[in-house]
Amino acid sequence: MSGSQKWINRLQQILPVENIKVSESIKNYTYTRLGGPADIFLTPTNFDEMKVILQTAKECDIPVTIIGNGSNLIVKDGGIRGITISLMKMKAIKVVNQTLSLQAGAYLKHVTEAALRNELTGLEFASGIPGTVGGAVYMNAGAYGGQISDALTNAWVMDGDGHLLLLSKQELLFGYRNSIISDKKFIVLEAEFQLEKSRYEVIKEKMEKYRLAREKKQPLEYPSCGSVFKRPAGYFAGKLIQDSGLQGLRIGGAEVSVKHAGFIVNVDNASSKDYTDLIKVIQETVKQKFGVELETEVIILG
Ligand SMILES: Cc1cc2nc3c(=O)[nH]c(=O)nc-3n(C[C@H](O)[C@H](O)[C@H](O)COP(=O)(O)OP(=O)(O)OC[C@H]3O[C@@H](n4cnc5c(N)ncnc54)[C@H](O)[C@@H]3O)c2cc1C
Repeated sequence: MSGSQKWINRLQQILPVENIKVSESIKNYTYTRLGGPADIFLTPTNFDEMKVILQTAKECDIPVTIIGNGSNLIVKDGGIRGITISLMKMKAIKVVNQTLSLQAGAYLKHVTEAALRNELTGLEFASGIPGTVGGAVYMNAGAYGGQISDALTNAWVMDGDGHLLLLSKQELLFGYRNSIISDKKFIVLEAEFQLEKSRYEVIKEKMEKYRLAREKKQPLEYPSCGSVFKRPAGYFAGKLIQDSGLQGLRIGGAEVSVKHAGFIVNVDNASSKDYTDLIKVIQETVKQKFGVELETEVIILG
């Protein structure tokens, strides 16, 4: 029996068979529509399953990768070795008074719609971010002056040994597009948010304003991974790329968006290599022209 067949047999004792896929194409789970196969793709449904998966992975020395909605990811063409976990089946949204308890796989779109229905304000900025709660907490997603850490009070996370920890907002050490989650390789399972009471029309109007702003500025008609680069101190990445004359530059099927220079769009069946080659050209050109190092915001896996 091969090594990987042994892990699969063990995982089959823990998880229902429909939650285990072998050599699953990651393209179907990323917003950019990029990426080779995941060796083993798991979709656990609760904390206990997560715990056993992580303990098994540790015992068998199998690498573990977590993905959310794949909206901030470039997965390489060779795919992801070991176990890839998607929390897409853990997406409950619970609202009690002004508190939202959200499982990590819940989509921000559904979360902000629930906040709207309950006349709660504080997360409108996130309504157009195409990620999950877990992905947003991981990188402290933000837009229009708001960020996920603003209303978050605490989060349930799991470490690589399968230990469950409840961390307060302070313990999560949020910064600009980061948190302790990436440093410690924690997995976000659930997060709690405290919102303020408002009126339906006021919240709706704000969400609509942000939606229109996104539609106007972002190339939402193409697959992409959002802003590819972090904002360098004192500059805007998109403006530097635009002023470098790179808009419209294409490698293979990946193109620097003509609508928003900070985005790379998949215009024609791009490979991950097209994306990473284009990123390199952008970084080198901007460094040469303006002396600014562009750091990627997007996570490259595989
Ligand atoms: C059109 C478009 C617009 C966007 N606009 C914005 C914006 O305005 N502001 C903004 O901040 N971002 C924006 N993004 C980027 C992206 O949507 C956010 O970063 C989002 O928070 C990523 O969430 P995700 O679930 O898709 O995570 P993924 O892309 O799947 O993963 C991103 C990282 O988070 C990790 N991760 C995911 N889930 C978990 C978990 N449960 N526990 C631990 N780690 C986890 C992954 O391992 C990976 O390292 C945009 C993207 C697109 C395509």
